[in-house]
Amino acid sequence: MRKPGVEHILSLKCLICGKEYHPDEVEYVCPDHGDEGILDVQYDYECIARRISQGDLLHNTDYSMWRYRPLLPLRADASVPPLLVGWTPLLRANRLAAELGLKHVWIKDDGRQPTGSLKDRASAIAVVKAQEKGAQVITTASTGNAAAALAGLCASVRQRNVIFVPQSAPPAKIAQLLVFGSQVLLVQGSYDDAFELCLLAAREYGWYNRNTAYNPYMTEGKKTVALEICEQMGWQAPDAVFVSVGDGCIIGGLHKGFRDLYHLGWIDHIPRLIGVQAAGSAYLYEAWVNQEDVLTKPPIAAHTVADSISAGLPRDRLKAMAAVRDTKGAFVRVSDDEILAAIPALARGSGVFAEPAGAAAYAGLLKALSDGQVHADERIVVLVTGNGLKDVPNAMRSVEQIGTRAHVVEKTFADVQRVVQQLNLSGASSSV
Ligand SMILES: *Cc1c(COP(=O)(O)O)cnc(C)c1O
Ligand SMILES: [Zn+2]
Repeated sequence: MRKPGVEHILSLKCLICGKEYHPDEVEYVCPDHGDEGILDVQYDYECIARRISQGDLLHNTDYSMWRYRPLLPLRADASVPPLLVGWTPLLRANRLAAELGLKHVWIKDDGRQPTGSLKDRASAIAVVKAQEKGAQVITTASTGNAAAALAGLCASVRQRNVIFVPQSAPPAKIAQLLVFGSQVLLVQGSYDDAFELCLLAAREYGWYNRNTAYNPYMTEGKKTVALEICEQMGWQAPDAVFVSVGDGCIIGGLHKGFRDLYHLGWIDHIPRLIGVQAAGSAYLYEAWVNQEDVLTKPPIAAHTVADSISAGLPRDRLKAMAAVRDTKGAFVRVSDDEILAAIPALARGSGVFAEPAGAAAYAGLLKALSDGQVHADERIVVLVTGNGLKDVPNAMRSVEQIGTRAHVVEKTFADVQRVVQQLNLSGASSSV
């Protein structure tokens, strides 16, 4: 028996062959293209426009991603998890902008999500879709944050889940999984290995599969960050958005969100999307520069301090390439040293503490600026995708790298005075 679909979804369209499927006809990917046959949700915008308007949003007090529910792939009767996901702050970073010689810079702080990264937006959708299917177990592979997000969202609704993460994931992220009560498989291999194993297990045991760029609905959750950015800017879309890129699902999600709003006529242009990659994991940057076909380009060996964007074969590479190409954006590449330096630079300039992959977006802005890719009066958003507390060892490295250290004192006031004098902190003369 065919279950009723989601009324405002027209089809799921294969990004390779363009074939369209009814949402109940396929589980995840295009049957003709196997694991590579990523599907894109096609909406009936006329139907959506009857259900939501900019005016409605003005009066909507649901400050979470669910305020955009008519734009999400949910059935009308679906209930959503209780954790508050979305509506993260968009901060105007005037001082930072001035230091860079720019006029308009905002930081979208998705480190403020319940589990500390933007991945909560996708995992929230995964939990709803899994419950729609009556799944006993949800599974995902992850470099850490998608897993932590799934673990937290599942805990909020008592949903069983199995997580595949590389053993090398930062301890804070593994701790989150265990604290939330997930079943954790620490894979003695890379994220790419964990991904393959997770696909096999999901198929074998019939678990609901949340994997990025396999489950077509994850992009739909991630796109809510673009919807929020535009609403928070009074529907004046920014000129450019900087975002770090691993698998490419977030940048694809941003693209989707901006396209949705453009189709609805709520914004008059789509921002340039600037994908920032770590030099040691720059598959998409290389493909873009060398005009390589990402369907045939072989995987690379990925190594970077920014674990969240370490991906030898970016799973959402088709959507990521389209996001950059169609918006006349760019990929930029930053070194691990530049990423680490961006952590305290961003924190000191704005008060936002990012994990390496979050700070990478800011490092990318610095790189693009020095390459003359941005203009002083452009309106620029830097998307910070993950919280600095996710990776304390690399935060410590980032300050060691610039020579910032704590001052150890004996437990005497005399020693405190010694340090205060040494630092020139006594009296009003040193007010900053
Ligand atoms: C997952 C993640 C990214 C990269 O997102 P992709 O969809 O893999 O490109 C960037 N930053 C953080 C903090 C993440 O968790
Ligand atoms: Zn296909």
